Amino acid sequence: MSRLKRTLCALVSLCVMIAPAYAADFVVVENSNAKAAIRLGDNSGGTKFAAKELQKYVKAMSGVELKILATNEVAASTILISNERKGLKRDEIGLKVTSNGSTLELYGEGRRGAINAVYELLERWGVRFFGVDPKSDKIPSKTTLSVPSDLSYSYAPPFEQRFPGSIALDRNVGPAWAVKLRVSREYKKIGGKRDAQMGGGHSLGNKYYINPQKYFEAHPEWYGLVGGKRTKGVQLCHSNQEMRKQLLEEVKAKLKVRKDSGAFDLDGITYVSLSYLDSNRFCKCPECKKLLAEWGGSRVGPLLDICNYVASGIEEEYPKARILTLAYWDWVEPPKKVPRELHKNVYVTICQNGNKALPVRVQETPMRRLTEWGKIAPGRLTIWDWDACFRNYITPHPIYHLYADDFKTFRDLGVKRVSTQMEHGAVFADFVELRTYLYTKLHWNPELDTDEMAKEWIDHCCGAGSVEINAYYKLLERAVWGDEPKKRKTRARMHGYNPGRGWLNALNLGKSFMLFENALAKTAGDKFTHGNVRCLSAGMLMLVIERYDEVKAVFEDAKKSMNDASFENIKLPSRLELVDRFEQIGKDFYIWCWREGPQPRDFKSLVKSLKEGTR
Ligand SMILES: [Zn+2]
Repeated sequence: MSRLKRTLCALVSLCVMIAPAYAADFVVVENSNAKAAIRLGDNSGGTKFAAKELQKYVKAMSGVELKILATNEVAASTILISNERKGLKRDEIGLKVTSNGSTLELYGEGRRGAINAVYELLERWGVRFFGVDPKSDKIPSKTTLSVPSDLSYSYAPPFEQRFPGSIALDRNVGPAWAVKLRVSREYKKIGGKRDAQMGGGHSLGNKYYINPQKYFEAHPEWYGLVGGKRTKGVQLCHSNQEMRKQLLEEVKAKLKVRKDSGAFDLDGITYVSLSYLDSNRFCKCPECKKLLAEWGGSRVGPLLDICNYVASGIEEEYPKARILTLAYWDWVEPPKKVPRELHKNVYVTICQNGNKALPVRVQETPMRRLTEWGKIAPGRLTIWDWDACFRNYITPHPIYHLYADDFKTFRDLGVKRVSTQMEHGAVFADFVELRTYLYTKLHWNPELDTDEMAKEWIDHCCGAGSVEINAYYKLLERAVWGDEPKKRKTRARMHGYNPGRGWLNALNLGKSFMLFENALAKTAGDKFTHGNVRCLSAGMLMLVIERYDEVKAVFEDAKKSMNDASFENIKLPSRLELVDRFEQIGKDFYIWCWREGPQPRDFKSLVKSLKEGTR
């Protein structure tokens, strides 16, 4: 190394050592003294909440409590927080130091704009929101907090609606965490009041619209002609004009109630969900057959026809309300013929049902559907995805490795929103908090690095056991995608009903068990990390119990083949001991349902069947 280079290196090191005391920085806290105050840019609930959150986390990091000034108060140096700034894209946020250096502006579009900007700043300072329980927050200790004086950052996420249906984000379990993860849902606590969607997923002909309990007797002709009889609980008679008029009135009445109550922001994005029932019994009357033929015989045609009718009928009064419909099951395929152009306010949700072990972009059928639907409803596609093993929520299901890839594909195809149905019943379902964390971070920005975020999460949440749990995370990835996992080549098929049989062999299960034994031992003295490791072990444990004989047979060989001294003293307990351990995890962590589908779905019945060996 030349002398010049050495001198330069020394200078650089010196600069690093004395950072961040650059005179040009916008300093918030210096040597544990407050150097700026927070000022409210407006008096909305969201802005006040954002100011308090910033104050709380700055104090937790530095011990310093920043003052919160009212909108008309002044200070030499202020962090100005404001909401609902106009002229921004949906959910766009900004972090900007003004040209005179006296103000750090934190702002954003919508009622969540300010809080999203505050969390962005906190994350830049190293804060992480890793779980439902605020004890999972990673809060670095800092005596000085600052941002560069030339900071000028703005960002709008690619999807205007972001929500994973994860139990960890359920309104009752974790709304505070959901807000930190920037998911799209409104919460009263922070001044939210708009509800993005009216009606559930299968709304036509159930309690939402054209309720058969109310109308079947007087108007059987509104309901499907099946087996020669007008029938309840099947699809409506979609061609019936009187039924359509009634439907339009019902939609208008619901919109009006919400408008009048003031509890619904009709200037924001409002979806009215109109979709077929979850049934494949359709009306066979001559008019319905004619309507079907007009759309080239495609099942989805009459549904689009109804959506067009309602969208035109409400457009004048509610120009921003969007009709949202589901392309699903027998009607997931785009129509072969489109006799009438889709109304500009009709949005189509494609239900993704490809192989979860492969990125969407390499799968012919889902890509063809997305492309064809994109031509019929340009810029108006949304996605309904499935991200859980519905046959068994607890079992390992490592499809989070593909989130970023798939989000990029959806973004590039102009998809407006992505919703994902995750496990509903078990907080200790496979990696549920890590998956929710990765999902929401990548939903906001698909360019983030999945592995880096996962490692950060595991390092923090599993502490002394993080080496083993990081190894388990990688083991699962290699079990699906082989020794070059990033190529994403596999013969494995993973979907909602494949509990790890084809891709996770007994040898890998044995190795997983040993990794967890060591992680549990290493974290034994720490309640938080030990609890997390126990919770994470449930998926692996579930499979070891179910496939006990297989795992036992390879267990000794696995120990040898791992060639790792730390595994030498590990024994595989008896099957019943493992069931007891599994049962105790269920008692200590929230679970009310372990799968979709047939009853019984409660945890006690699962444990009973494991004890009796009937599973
Ligand atoms: Zn009919």
